[in-house]
Amino acid sequence: MTNISFPEPTITAVSKPFWDKVAEKQFYLQQCDDCAQWVFYPRAHCPHCFGSHLTWKEASGQGKLKSWSMVHRTGHPAWQERTPYAVGIVELAEGPSLLTHLLINEQELHYQLPVEISFQSLNERLLPFFQKKGD
Ligand SMILES: [Zn+2]
Repeated sequence: MTNISFPEPTITAVSKPFWDKVAEKQFYLQQCDDCAQWVFYPRAHCPHCFGSHLTWKEASGQGKLKSWSMVHRTGHPAWQERTPYAVGIVELAEGPSLLTHLLINEQELHYQLPVEISFQSLNERLLPFFQKKGD
């Protein structure tokens, strides 16, 4: 297999704190100081009350599986040797949903499956994947 690099996340000034924490194996989300709602993806304004006072806080890294899909043909060749794998939407315990790579066998995937974060290294960068809770 040729050595193809995985595509890197696009890191902006707004999302940089998220990725800086992930690099330390920590999972932080923004919480709105005005309405107390948690926010993901990283933003400059709260999508619930449009306030601009968002504070980065440590999140549980826990959630439940809301939806998923098995990937057999990838959008980028670097992922092809990992197929088949699952991607899914995790409803985080704090409320927001996150699209993520799932480290779960297809036979074990089900709606509301309890999941937890698992930091995985690709291209020497840590990424927030999710696994079955307790694995
Ligand atoms: Zn708000």
